[in-house]
Amino acid sequence: MQKYDAIVVGAGNGGLSTACTLAKAGKKVLLIEQHNLPGGVASSFRRGRFEFETALHELAAIGKPGARGEVYELVNENYGVPINWVPVPDLFRAIHVKDDGTVIRDFTMPHGRQAFMDKMEEYAPGNREAVARFYELFDESKAALNYISSANGHPDPKVLRKQFPNFLKVGSYSPMDVLTALKFTDDAKRIMGTYWSYMAVDMYRLSSIFYLMMVGDLVDGGAYIMEHTSHQLTTGLLEAFRRFGGESWFNVRAEEILFEGKRACGVRTTQGTVYADHVIWNGNPNIAFANMVPKGVIPERELKLANARKFSARMFVVYIGLNKTAEELGIKDYNIFISPGLDTADEYKRVGRMEKIRSTAALCYNVANPKIGPPGTCQMSFTMAYSKDVWGDVELRDYVNLKNQKAREILELYERATKTSIIPYIEEIAVATPWTFCRYAAVPEGGVYGYEAAGWDNCMARMMSLDRDFTIPGLKFTGAAGPRGDGFSESLLTGNIVGKMVLGEMMAKEGK
Ligand SMILES: Cc1cc2nc3c(=O)[nH]c(=O)nc-3n(C[C@H](O)[C@H](O)[C@H](O)COP(=O)(O)OP(=O)(O)OC[C@H]3O[C@@H](n4cnc5c(N)ncnc54)[C@H](O)[C@@H]3O)c2cc1C
Repeated sequence: MQKYDAIVVGAGNGGLSTACTLAKAGKKVLLIEQHNLPGGVASSFRRGRFEFETALHELAAIGKPGARGEVYELVNENYGVPINWVPVPDLFRAIHVKDDGTVIRDFTMPHGRQAFMDKMEEYAPGNREAVARFYELFDESKAALNYISSANGHPDPKVLRKQFPNFLKVGSYSPMDVLTALKFTDDAKRIMGTYWSYMAVDMYRLSSIFYLMMVGDLVDGGAYIMEHTSHQLTTGLLEAFRRFGGESWFNVRAEEILFEGKRACGVRTTQGTVYADHVIWNGNPNIAFANMVPKGVIPERELKLANARKFSARMFVVYIGLNKTAEELGIKDYNIFISPGLDTADEYKRVGRMEKIRSTAALCYNVANPKIGPPGTCQMSFTMAYSKDVWGDVELRDYVNLKNQKAREILELYERATKTSIIPYIEEIAVATPWTFCRYAAVPEGGVYGYEAAGWDNCMARMMSLDRDFTIPGLKFTGAAGPRGDGFSESLLTGNIVGKMVLGEMMAKEGK
């Protein structure tokens, strides 16, 4: 009988990070992945002469020499993965545009606290003090989250009340409540709300802690991508895991989590049965609860929690390789958020319907990384996040036509908003819908971000309930559905937190 200390199912960012933390601590770990390569949605694929990034627009918490961020510390220093991080030039450009092409607003925000504050003052005068208060709150919230992570989900309430009183106050509020309390003007709120479309959760419901971490980290330390796509990161993490002594099985699917009484004790896979004291699941808990575990083992509270949560953004992406350079096409911006610029609650409703596409996050990778792709070309991606399962209602017979129609809508939106011609120069095109992500990564409804970090299910509630949300003995969940919320940084950091929690249980059993 093959027995491990831990089995990690799924080699996405979260699974890889948990596997590395456990293997680095000397534990005997098996990593199982249904595909032939690691990464989950964080990978790359090839069409013709182009290698396309599947997911990453940008991530934060890398920092600079002497002031490294927590993702750099975890990936480069702790796991020893030698990633060359490529900085992204500006924070973002946003264009608010009407259907007829009339531009309502067009603004570009830089990285760096002072530069961001100065630019904000130019576009929305009278907000310097509000921005300064935002930075203070970000610093306090970051320190509080670090403290909670280090306390393994058992923070001392007295320490929290004394050292992080504002963090405690804002935890259950929305970003809009927080911006109002910090006295941002309406114009400034529009600028501060630009990132809402990454999450497809409006500014009235998104977790303010999640929002603060995302915007604060990006403003503070800048945004980064890998030199050689996400595939470089996820294959690097796999190499590190193997270097730490971990064992990995690819092209192997987990079909059932096995229990002895109420405790998880192994996994039945397409290549046989394996046993372990701990099983860590890098997929959505709802999938595990519905298909992978016997009904009697799930505590009622956990089942209710899973059913009450909302699945996150469902992605539609168009990837194109062009036979002209970015300079030749006149493309200067790395990322542009294009939308009608409505109130975010209205936009949230709009992206919950199968309407004509009016918003996208458009990227040109060559602006950040001129070496990506063959000379004389450039590559772009256009993403739209649906807030509901609207692609679930599409009939199979309509699917191909609809996805091609939506691809055209998104490309024409970009051309209209930026007055840049790209369609005639497309050499390769690939389109991914929520169906693609659902099938590839086994994420429900194609929601690649786990659960919406919103309302009562906010990041503070998740972090403070670490021990109460993981109560099935021997079974834990890691990745985008975890306590830190979704995204590269968050799933990597959650992976480490979950790995440490498992190590803590192992030590407790050994009486250490
Ligand atoms: C288009 C797009 C753009 C994005 N842009 C950004 C961005 O700019 N910045 C950012 O921070 N984040 C971004 N994200 C989000 C980020 O990619 C994800 O939040 C993160 O990578 C999810 O990691 P995860 O650990 O949850 O695993 P997943 O990627 O969901 O991987 C889960 C893994 O488990 C495997 N698996 C599932 N079931 C089984 C089974 N039964 N047996 C074996 N293996 C199984 C799957 O094959 C998969 O490999 C983007 C995502 C997408 C799709």
